[in-house]
Amino acid sequence: MAIDIQRDRRIGMTCDSADSQYISARGYCLADCGISELMESNLADLGLGKGWSKNPLHEITMSEVSALLRLEYWFAFGGLTGSYSYPMGILVTGGAGFIGGHTLRQLQKEYPNTQIRCLDNLSTGYRNNIPNGIELIEGDVCDFRILSGLINDSLDGVIHLAADSRVLPSLQSPNLAKKSLESNLNGTLNVLTAILETGKRIPFVYAGSSTAYGDHKAPQGEDLLPRVQSPYSAGKLAGEMMIRSYVITFGLWATTLRYFQVYGPGQPSEGSYALVTGIFLSQAKEGAALTIEGDGSQSRDFVHVFDVARANVSALKIDGKGEPINIGTGKSHTVKNLADMLSPNQVFLPPRKIDLPATQSTTRRAKELLSWESTITLEDGMTELLNMK
Ligand code: NAD
Repeated sequence: MAIDIQRDRRIGMTCDSADSQYISARGYCLADCGISELMESNLADLGLGKGWSKNPLHEITMSEVSALLRLEYWFAFGGLTGSYSYPMGILVTGGAGFIGGHTLRQLQKEYPNTQIRCLDNLSTGYRNNIPNGIELIEGDVCDFRILSGLINDSLDGVIHLAADSRVLPSLQSPNLAKKSLESNLNGTLNVLTAILETGKRIPFVYAGSSTAYGDHKAPQGEDLLPRVQSPYSAGKLAGEMMIRSYVITFGLWATTLRYFQVYGPGQPSEGSYALVTGIFLSQAKEGAALTIEGDGSQSRDFVHVFDVARANVSALKIDGKGEPINIGTGKSHTVKNLADMLSPNQVFLPPRKIDLPATQSTTRRAKELLSWESTITLEDGMTELLNMK
């Protein structure tokens, strides 16, 4: 038996047995083989932390590599025989959406041999956002039956993006606010319950939002007390709170990523789900005047969706304690500045009823916990989008 450091840096062991099936060096897999306790104590003897053996997507360190090489000896002489297989699987809710499609692509890149599935009700998402090779299960996260069928102990991670995903619709009427809250609260609660019912620790990543900071002065760090300003924001934050309480109460492994203003290929450009970057781009391409709401002095931390997709996948690899992590660039641009990058043809409209003055992420926690930072500047990202057909 040889230890094989997989291309995706997940540690696995390949058996030299006839069918050479892949097994992963984890408590779970070994529990399937009936030697979990022996395995845990061996891992500890070898200097591997307890948590390590349970998170399949954990990024490996050099000291763990050396511990695993010693573990190889144990396997060679410990007499583990036969062949074992362990199906890897990741579920993305809301995978047909803007961020979801890019997250699925990033997962395929990092985990080419993993079964990746997507649950989406296609309310704002599109089939063609889903790359080939990924199964779409058309359904609603508010339907617990569907979720509990999909989330079982063969899963190794869940990224939960499905939501009524924008502030604006939630401001339009009490009924739309109720719809947003019901969908976001019940959906998240269902996913959490289904994960916990498996009895297995499945890394869970939640799409939080920088709207939690409300009108706090920029830059906004994770330790600020939230100041929600919209029903959408209240729903997103309530999801975070549920997660945190489940981490403490039930030992859930979860990470909340508070995305700032996400933009990039496939962003919505019309209707109440449109993003300012998408609206300006389509206006600029049509030769129409860019419509700036208010005086354009409101500023945003615009983060590219490729970077966000990387953050989502990185967050699966840590043993999350439910703390929020900002996903932003650390830089803020005014809406006027964004418009100036695209066209001098601009008109000013009345301001929105509720429009946050400024968002700007702090970046320390993402670097420390996820080893993540943004790589694409707004200027480069927008120029590329402008040149795209
Ligand atoms: P999106 O609307 O493009 O994607 C959401 C996806 O979820 C869509 O495919 C939609 O069909 C699906 N969906 C909605 N409700 C569902 C339900 N009840 N059951 C199953 N599927 C459902 O939005 P996005 O920009 O990709 O956002 C993804 C996540 O990130 C959302 O949770 C959103 O709140 C959060 N977020 C986005 C931004 C941003 O700037 N885009 C910022 C902060 C947070």
